Order: sequence, then structure tokens, then C-alpha cells
Amino acid sequence: MKLAIFDDHRLGVVTSEGVADVTAALPWPYDPDPLTAGWWRRLCRDLPSIRGELERAAKERPPVPLDAVRLLAPALNPSKIVAAASNYADHVAEMHGVQERTLGRVESWMMNFDIFLKAPSAICGPADDIVLPPAVLEAGHEIHHESELVVVMGTVGKDIPESSALDHVAGYTLGLDMTVRGEGDRSRRKSYDTFSPLGPYLVTADEVGDPADLDIRLSVNGAERQHVHTSTMITKVPAIVAYASSVMTLLPGDLIFTGAPPGVGPISPGDTLVTSITRIGEMHLHVH
Ligand code: MN
Repeated sequence: MKLAIFDDHRLGVVTSEGVADVTAALPWPYDPDPLTAGWWRRLCRDLPSIRGELERAAKERPPVPLDAVRLLAPALNPSKIVAAASNYADHVAEMHGVQERTLGRVESWMMNFDIFLKAPSAICGPADDIVLPPAVLEAGHEIHHESELVVVMGTVGKDIPESSALDHVAGYTLGLDMTVRGEGDRSRRKSYDTFSPLGPYLVTADEVGDPADLDIRLSVNGAERQHVHTSTMITKVPAIVAYASSVMTLLPGDLIFTGAPPGVGPISPGDTLVTSITRIGEMHLHVH
């Protein structure tokens, strides 16, 4: 099942015919205010028990064409965005050159797999533009795209064993981990507003299948820059979830970016980014 948040934070089920508004089928009072709404996190937690009702409601409502709605990010008030670093060998290799150019040296500790945090306020949706901060551009820093598979957590977990990690996953979406290169902590360099475009949908784990059998692609102005198969992740999704949950309790709706494929590079105002993942979807994003 594909779930979308659209227009005034309505909930939709997406099919080949469009999006059906199933907001009224939610089994709790609906709060459209994105600052106070907790329904999305409950939805992520309780998806197995309410998806039947959502699927029934979707069949009863006429679908609206996707181009007639404004898709928002398929995430609402996550307690955190966890992100994996250095998770594809070819990306780790290319970062030596990137760091020499943008930092003037190679930070060897950054070449090892680990996790860090991005601000949830950096999330934007598939209909939004990526805004490059003028002060960052004026200072001469490169701002890079990292096109990543993103895990959406379902049930709460701490110290989750790798063997049951996927049981805690509600589904997956596609995200860009936009990044300023240069000096400074990752949490600042990756947390500017609009630096986490997400979408176009949350695709449930059963529909995505094996998260290690997906193609991630990204092109800039029609030229392909990133194309990777997720089987080449150094630390696979179950191990990322297990590791992250050994540090912090993972809550429903939390997001986990799974690491940049090789081919990262700078973008500029006026660029158009097209990114896609098998069985998840595609986003066209403009850069301002
Ligand atoms: Mn990244």
C-alpha cells in the first residue's frame, strides 16, 4: 500500500488511478494542524491493524488524479531523523577527493560507518523547492545531493535484534540528504530548511519487499549522477535499525536515511533533480 499526505495534511491511499482521501477512515480524531498532529505516528505504529479499513475506504472513494493534489512529505512530526554515514564503498572512496577539495584535508573518522541526526524541520515535500541558503553559496561552499532509501519506523524499539529489525519497519520512502560540504558538524551542514525532501509516498514494507533489492537513481538536469543497487550497502537496513536502536529508542514515524550512494556532487539554483527508487516512486525537485 502507498500512503500519501496531501493538501491540508489529508491522508491518501495512492493507486494507479490516483489518490483516494481516506482521512475519515482514521479510527481517532483527526487533527489537521501539523504542529500538534500525532495521527501520523499512530498510523505508523498501528498500520497492521488499520490498513484493512484504509484499503476498504480507498475502494469506496473516487480517486483524484495525482496532479490535482499537492503532495506533502510522507512524514509528520518525527521525533528524529537518523542518518547513516559512509555506507557504500564507492561513496567512501569518492569522499577522499571531495574532502580534499572542500575541506582541504581528509577526515579519516568520517570514512567509517556511523549514524548522526538531522533536524526534522529540514523536511520538505515532493512539491517543494530545495532552497540553497544564500549565505552558504556566497561563502563559496558546495551543496551536494545524496539520494537515499529512507526507512519509516513502525513500532517502538530499543536494542532491536537484527533478526527482527524489519518487523519494526512500517515502510520506506525516498529522501535527499542535502549536505553543505566543508567545515562543521554534519548536524548543522545537513539541517538547513528544505534539506530533507521526502516522498512521494510511504510505501509499506510488504509492497517494497527486500530493501537490499532496490535501484536508487538521481539525475541533475537530465544527466545521471547516482545509480546504485541497495545490495551494495556496507551496513544493510536490519543492521542499521539494530545499531540505531542500540543508541536511542526508535519511535513510530522516525526516519532513517540509509546512506549516500556514490556520485554525490554540487547543485546550483535553477537545477532540476529527478530521483527515484524501485517500487517506491520518483520525485522531480527544483533548486532555488
Ligand atoms: Mn547521507
